[in-house]
Amino acid sequence: MIKPFQDVLLDKGLCVGCTYPLNKAKKLGSITDNSELVKCKCKRIYVHDKRMDKYRRATFQEEQQYIKSLKK
Ligand SMILES: [Zn+2]
Repeated sequence: MIKPFQDVLLDKGLCVGCTYPLNKAKKLGSITDNSELVKCKCKRIYVHDKRMDKYRRATFQEEQQYIKSLKK
């Protein structure tokens, strides 16, 4: 089975939009003990799982939660 191209990029820790390395993306802050939000320079937001060292797209809820936390 062939993986979607976006998954292949994320497996390599690259942004699906601009292929920028996400370990160089801006860290926005932790959402749990083991995960943090990072924001690519193209404004896509990802969740970095620190234990697995894997990235995935942030869900809409996670983005909203983060935006809310900024307004405090
Ligand atoms: Zn990007």
